Order: sequence, then C-alpha cells, then structure tokens
Amino acid sequence: MVTIKEALQIIRDQQVDLRIENRNLGECLGYSLAKDIYAPFDIPSFDNSAMDGYALCGISLNYEIVGEVAAGNQSEVGLKKGEAVRIFTGAKVPENTTAVVMQEKTRVKGNRLSLEQEPKEGQNIRKRGGELRKDQVVFEKYFTITPAGLGLIGSLGIAEVEVFRKPVVNIITTGNELVEPGNPRGEGQIYESNSFALAAAIEKHGFQYREKKQIEDDFEKIKEGIRASLETSDVLILSGGISVGDYDFVKQALEENGVKEQFYKVFQKPGKPLYFGRKGEKYVFALPGNPASSLSCFYIYVLPMLFRLSGSEKTGLDHFSFPISHDFENRADRPSFLKARIQEGKVEILNAQSSSMIQSMALGNTLAFIDAETKLAQGDQIECFLIS
Ligand code: AMP
Ligand code: MG
Repeated sequence: MVTIKEALQIIRDQQVDLRIENRNLGECLGYSLAKDIYAPFDIPSFDNSAMDGYALCGISLNYEIVGEVAAGNQSEVGLKKGEAVRIFTGAKVPENTTAVVMQEKTRVKGNRLSLEQEPKEGQNIRKRGGELRKDQVVFEKYFTITPAGLGLIGSLGIAEVEVFRKPVVNIITTGNELVEPGNPRGEGQIYESNSFALAAAIEKHGFQYREKKQIEDDFEKIKEGIRASLETSDVLILSGGISVGDYDFVKQALEENGVKEQFYKVFQKPGKPLYFGRKGEKYVFALPGNPASSLSCFYIYVLPMLFRLSGSEKTGLDHFSFPISHDFENRADRPSFLKARIQEGKVEILNAQSSSMIQSMALGNTLAFIDAETKLAQGDQIECFLIS
C-alpha cells in the first residue's frame, strides 16, 4: 500500500520515451511542442493601422485627403506634410505617417479632412515587431498548444508543427455480471458503464482510445485479452477484477504478461485497490470496478500519466482551493476524494459518496480532497480537482 503522494510520485518518476511527429497546424490543439518555435519575421511585419480612419502626416487640425489604402493593399504610398489617406484596419500605413485618427473623430468635406483634436504622434499605429521580433522564441519546447497558441503559430506562416505523439489507450472491462447497454439484462446482471465514462474522460482531455473490450471473469481470457491489448496501445486501462475477491484475476494475468507492478493499493477513498504497472514502454492501470472509483482514479492517476507521455506541461486536472460552504466531517479513515460542487466560489460536498454511486459525480463538477478523520468548518479552504 502506498500513500496518494507516493503513488503520484511513482507516476512522475517514470522514465518515459517521448516520440515526435509532424502534424498539420489545424490538428495540433492540445499537443505539446517537441522544439522551440522562433518567429521567422517580425510580427507585425509592417507598420499598420489599428483603426478604420485616416493616416496623417504632420500634427495639425486640417489635412488634404490624397488617396486610400485598404488591408492587403500592396502599393507603396508616401505622404507629405498636411496630407492624409483614408485607411482601414490592418492596412500598411504609408511612408511618413505621423498618426492614424479614427474615423469617428474626423469630419470630411470634399477632400478636406478636419479633426476635433490634434493627433498624438504614433497613435493607432501597430508598429512593426510590436508583438514579436524576428528570431525571438515564441513558444518553448513542451508548450501545450492552446487555441490562441495555434492562432499565433499560424500567423508565423507555419503549416506543420513538430509535436510529441500522444499515447494511444485501450480499455478492458472485466466482470461476469456486465451486459452492454442496449441488450436485455438477466437476473443479477448490471449494465457495463465504466468504459463509457472512461472513454469520454480520455477524449475530453484530448486523448484517443483505440478499442474497448469486455471480458468475463476467466483467468485465461483476461490474460489473453491483456496480451492482445498491450500490443496495440501505449496505455492499457482495465476496470474491475483487481480486488481480493475469488474472481479477481487481473493482477495475476498482468504478472503473467510480464507487466511489472509499480504500485498496488493506494491509501485513499475511493479507489484503494488501484494498480499501476509497466512493461517496457507500455503502462497499465487496473482500476477498481466501482464506477466512482474507476473514474476518480482515472482523473487523479491515469490522466497525469497520459499528460507525461504526451510531453505536456500539464500534470493532471486543474486544481484550486475553495472555501467549503458548510461544516463537514470526513469520518473515513483514509484521505478522500469527495464528489462536490463548486458554485459561486464555494464548494459543497454532495450526498451519496459511495464508490458505487456516480450520479453525484455527474451532477458535481469537482473532486474535493479531504484528509482522513478531519473536521472542517464553513469557510475552511479545501483543494478541489475540477472535473467539468
Ligand atoms: P470489482 O472491482 O470487479 O470487484 O467490481 C466492483 C463493483 O463495480 C461491482 O459492483 C461491479 O459490478 C461494478 N463494476 C465493475 N465493472 C463495472 C463496469 N464496467 N461498469 C459498471 N459497474 C462495474
Ligand atoms: Mg468484478
């Protein structure tokens, strides 16, 4: 048995072999850079107008309008003192432009332009190199590409990006009692639901799963299922069969497949019988079958490993401290991840904390971490791992 901290440290300490691939820019969201990105030219690459209005030469209240430049206009225009041109946002400002005034602050009569106020030198001009200088580092290696990051990389004219490959995940659910939704359910059977929750959580965080398989509690079948699944994945997630029941064959089946245990059993609630193992460059998590345990363990342990394997700077779920909205006593003898809801800046611990119950997790938006046998008063801060 390890503590939560030890388990997370074991995950962080894994020596991983990051692999690189080239991806089209549009398919890079959530991927992490395999090398620094430099600006190939200044951004903006030319002085341009921040407004629809007039580009002016000299400081005055009256100008003569001598032409027009729209965005994308290629012609080189030069201004002489006292001259103005109509200009539009993003258009290159003419040579000798002192300032741009916005249209709303001007009056036009024929080719005469008059202003309410004298312009200030440089106003409304976006200077060449004002955001980035040529050869400057734009993003460092390991930066995980956000929508804005993707936009900026595009503005550098880069169409293909060197990123770290993301791990491929397979899911195996085990249990004789499990029936796929949509099929008739016999006496004593339940619908298999963990694979849906796990697959959705995998995808929501930007990873892919290749296949999911349901296997009955049969040692040989589980062993063979693990063997085949390891071949086509980087990370194998199993659900169920990892406890100490007579039908819990997963741990032995993993051993017989050459998977080396990194930890087994974590001093926590829910999800005590969590297993983490490794075979070469392949990682295996065997999650307890109870629905809330399996999803909670995915969020707290599997997700950090998926981020590591994708070279991401992210280490897991986003987490923040929030004040609790009510007094609360955690009577459990183990540190707990409790289903909770953050609303208007306060966190409420929800009812129905049993590891078999998942409705409270579905209606909540966070897992609140509370130490064993701890009394909290309203307003005390607790760590919340955001799951929505
Ligand atoms: P186990 O970890 O196999 O002992 O299962 C613990 C509990 O979780 C039992 O009540 C199982 O029926 C339930 N369970 C196991 N796997 C799943 C699954 N894939 N979907 C829904 N419930 C499951
Ligand atoms: Mg079972």
